[in-house]
Amino acid sequence: MHFNLKLKEMNKLLIVGTVAFDAIETPFGKTDKILGGAGTYIGLSASHFNLQSAIVSVVGDDFPQEYLDLLTSRNIDISGLEVVKGGKTFFWSGKYHNDLNSRDTLATELNVLADFQPKVPQNFKNADVVMLGNLHPMVQSSVLDQMEAKPKLVVLDTMNFWMDCALEDLLNVIKRVDVITINDEEARQLSGEYSLVKAAAKIHTMGPKYVVIKKGEHGALIFHNKEVFFAPALPLEEVFDPTGAGDTFAGGFAGFITQSENVSFENMKTAIIHGSNLASFCVEKFGTERMLKLNKEEVVARLKQFKSLTQFDIAL
Ligand code: AMP
Repeated sequence: MHFNLKLKEMNKLLIVGTVAFDAIETPFGKTDKILGGAGTYIGLSASHFNLQSAIVSVVGDDFPQEYLDLLTSRNIDISGLEVVKGGKTFFWSGKYHNDLNSRDTLATELNVLADFQPKVPQNFKNADVVMLGNLHPMVQSSVLDQMEAKPKLVVLDTMNFWMDCALEDLLNVIKRVDVITINDEEARQLSGEYSLVKAAAKIHTMGPKYVVIKKGEHGALIFHNKEVFFAPALPLEEVFDPTGAGDTFAGGFAGFITQSENVSFENMKTAIIHGSNLASFCVEKFGTERMLKLNKEEVVARLKQFKSLTQFDIAL
């Protein structure tokens, strides 16, 4: 008997974001330069879904092959990850306060990121979802310019650093995206509003139809028109290092949307639960350590915890 089965290609997620060296200090310890970067965390998080992903980014030739191998071992296509000969990899260093909810940036060295011209791999120019992770807004724009088919969804994440040094470019790219994910302090800075409800309303007028505001250990909100939905963060006994939690959240959000091919607001509610779930693992160890050891059973078990945390019956 002959079967003429044509297997459906997995959906594609194109990721842009820093691939970096991080040096982190928390009340529990300190690291030297370890693997970090927004693109790295997004990629590792999204690899928990059934999809094809590629990272567009840049590193110097000081970046260990071992780290590149880690990414490819997670089925992340790195043909758009440029290695600059003689260049130095982007470096970020941060120190967390005792409550772990806030941090000071001690150093941001752009290095090879300063003159980076991104090149989207040909087979990802038709990606279903584009996740514009944190890096220069001109790089984020350039990636959108290279798309040959309109993505079903474009998600953007950014941070205060780019609001301080490239606001105009940032506003230009924000106009072009469907979803923005941003933390509470950054939402306030971008909008000039203290109330997060007013901040979200103002950010809507800048372009994105969906505004996700991340509030660290206090969960995340998604706003769409007049509607709002909340995903808690899982109360954890121990938080070790929050670095990358925001990017892991964004990777989980974008990864789930890519896998499910559904860009409705209802589905985005589920997507922020997946984002919170994956981020809850990220903070349990330094840097990418926990994400690199995470397995499917652990992910599913914790999703069940999320469900029981938030479900209740009430007589109305
Ligand atoms: P998060 O804790 O989610 O804000 O992300 C921390 C990660 O973002 C670290 O791994 C850094 O390498 C990266 N990062 C820090 N500052 C920047 C920046 N200005 N642009 C892009 N990535 C950055």
